[in-house]
Amino acid sequence: MGDMGDLYRDWGAGKKAMRDKHGVDCPQCRAKQPKRTPTILLPGQRCKVDGCRDPRPRVSDEEFEAVTGWSVTRSTKRRADRGRRNSAD
Ligand SMILES: [Zn+2]
Repeated sequence: MGDMGDLYRDWGAGKKAMRDKHGVDCPQCRAKQPKRTPTILLPGQRCKVDGCRDPRPRVSDEEFEAVTGWSVTRSTKRRADRGRRNSAD
């Protein structure tokens, strides 16, 4: 269970790092609901409140890994390998 806690804590820290570096206040939230705290949008993310989509291109895997410290490419590859093995069975 300790491992799970660490995982979630790292996940939260990674998300915060992404918001700090790449997050911007949703322009629609600011325009339409200035009293509300605006949604923080990451590149390519859509605001759940008003549907406004951030126009920036998505962060590359390399940049994402650099900011969060997560190895996205490695875990994606692992998933793909597992998928191939399962389909071969
Ligand atoms: Zn918004």
